Amino acid sequence: MTTIDTAAAANTDALEILHRVFGYDSFRGQQAEIIQQVIGGGDALVLMPTGGGKSLCYQIPALVRPGTGVVISPLIALMQDQVDALSALGVRAAFLNSTQDGAERMRVEAAFLAGQLDLLYLAPERLRMDSTGDLLDRANIALFAIDEAHCVSQWGHDFRPDYLQLSVLHERWPSVPRIALTATATEQTHQEIVRRLDLGGSAQFVSSFDRPNIQYRIEPKNQPLQQLLALIRGEHPGDAGIVYCLSRASVEKTAEFLVENGIPALPYHAGLDSSVRQRNQSRFLREDGIVMVATIAFGMGIDKPDVRFVAHLDLPKSVEGYYQETGRAGRDGLPSTAWLAYGLQDVVQQRRMIDSSEGDRAHRLRLSQHLDAMLALCETLECRRVQLLAYFGESSTACGNCDTCLNPPEGWDGTIPAQKLLSTVVRLARERNQKFGAQHIIDILLGKRNARVEQQGHDSMSTFGIGGELGEQEWRGVVRQLLAQGLLGVNSDGYGTLVLTEASAGVLDGTRRVSLRREPERAAKAAKKSAVAATVPAEAAPLFEKLREWRAGEAREQAVPAYIIFGDATLRGIALTKPVSLDQLAQISGVGEKKLEAYGTALLEIVAAG
Ligand code: ADP
Ligand code: ZN
Repeated sequence: MTTIDTAAAANTDALEILHRVFGYDSFRGQQAEIIQQVIGGGDALVLMPTGGGKSLCYQIPALVRPGTGVVISPLIALMQDQVDALSALGVRAAFLNSTQDGAERMRVEAAFLAGQLDLLYLAPERLRMDSTGDLLDRANIALFAIDEAHCVSQWGHDFRPDYLQLSVLHERWPSVPRIALTATATEQTHQEIVRRLDLGGSAQFVSSFDRPNIQYRIEPKNQPLQQLLALIRGEHPGDAGIVYCLSRASVEKTAEFLVENGIPALPYHAGLDSSVRQRNQSRFLREDGIVMVATIAFGMGIDKPDVRFVAHLDLPKSVEGYYQETGRAGRDGLPSTAWLAYGLQDVVQQRRMIDSSEGDRAHRLRLSQHLDAMLALCETLECRRVQLLAYFGESSTACGNCDTCLNPPEGWDGTIPAQKLLSTVVRLARERNQKFGAQHIIDILLGKRNARVEQQGHDSMSTFGIGGELGEQEWRGVVRQLLAQGLLGVNSDGYGTLVLTEASAGVLDGTRRVSLRREPERAAKAAKKSAVAATVPAEAAPLFEKLREWRAGEAREQAVPAYIIFGDATLRGIALTKPVSLDQLAQISGVGEKKLEAYGTALLEIVAAG
């Protein structure tokens, strides 16, 4: 065959597998090109957002090329589910990691050597062992897929030392194509992956990082738990979601609060016993509608497609982290929410943490840049998505699906209030050994004669009571925004004492104007159905719910996550089209050969009964 014939044949094979095995109509985005590149034996670096469809990019080439596709993944706890999901599609997959006993490992190795596996998942630490090298030498390898490739980057937040040795793949098995994949998008990470994995000569596929189905919203934090409850009850009743908190204690407290209020919530943080963590994660994956309350220790590689919301109760430390975490919502492409509540205390706390963090000056500077970018996102008057994508080097136009687009905030000239506030800080700074945080300053501006103010004699200050034009919440907003803009600082004394910064001088002497953002009132949303159910027209809703019930029973019986049976998007497709024959059912996205055979009749019966 000529090269063109080979390419054409590869294309047909790939498309045939997409239809037959996965039950999908067409490739998405750059999938077709990437798959072609790897089938042809070339290397590829794939930067694609979460939910973009990275897995098919190595799964299909592994099925087309002779031999087994070896997938390096740091996510040991999820390998079982990945293998189960593939088995449900009729793909022969297995994994090797430290959770197995010797007998099980030997069984997998034997199948691998006998050429009976399409895909083998491997934990990176296994490559440190000589025995693994020997095993790979003796087998026929179709490709190496390096999943979560950003783990090789020290700049990022998920660094895994074992990833550094992955350059050995290329040196020892130069003729095996490699495909490295990640959903981390910054240029630094991208370059570091290329350098460390020696992928300079490989084809690079950089997708848009936009996640149009996710609605981004950031609101001021007043009563965070009540705000969270309103979000869940009002917009996501019965939906699966993730709530991120900064500390273990707040994880526990939040999970308890949700449970008391009738929401099925589970905690997850590094302080829990690993068996508890594992059990909670597995319930989150297997059952419908669980809310996981977690520190950022949770979530990497969680490929549950129907997470309908990701809520942050504390300010994330970087835009990169925030985008990764929110990206866990809505992998199935259906409407989802990314919601963040953030307040004055977050800024004070994070600035303080940076000041007292270990590491050199350069490290602190980096942390501080990360925080500034995150704050700029929170305080923007522009479209959130435009700003997020710009952070990843992408330009775009106002999205219409974020809070600032839907409910544009007003900007206002806050120069005078800022001057009043900063003058108060100046006056307090003259008092020796006194620590005054935001609340005390606001009390002075509002002319509150409380015990502390009177005791310190601050009711005779010239700025006492001059701030009546704003309410307490608004003043907190001013403090927060001045902190965010670097016009006000936090002392590293551990008390959150507010201090001037170099940039404050310009505000005080009137050479610098201060623009601030007025928080729009949150439009109260009427309680409604879950986000996905809301996309199913009323007449199809009862059938959709019946299908979900059937799926839950099936998942319980087989002890696999519900989405391994079918995703919401597929059930929605069935509820909408009401197929009456197996042929019609096979046309629906997500219904491949194996699942048609396993569930076709049952589904048709449910449709007919509905
Ligand atoms: P990623 O690993 O990039 O986060 P996945 O590989 O998990 O994304 O894919 C996200 C979801 O999209 C999965 O449910 C997957 O089955 C589905 N998907 C991927 N490619 C296609 C396609 N071409 N057509 C329809 N659905 C797809
Ligand atoms: Zn927008």
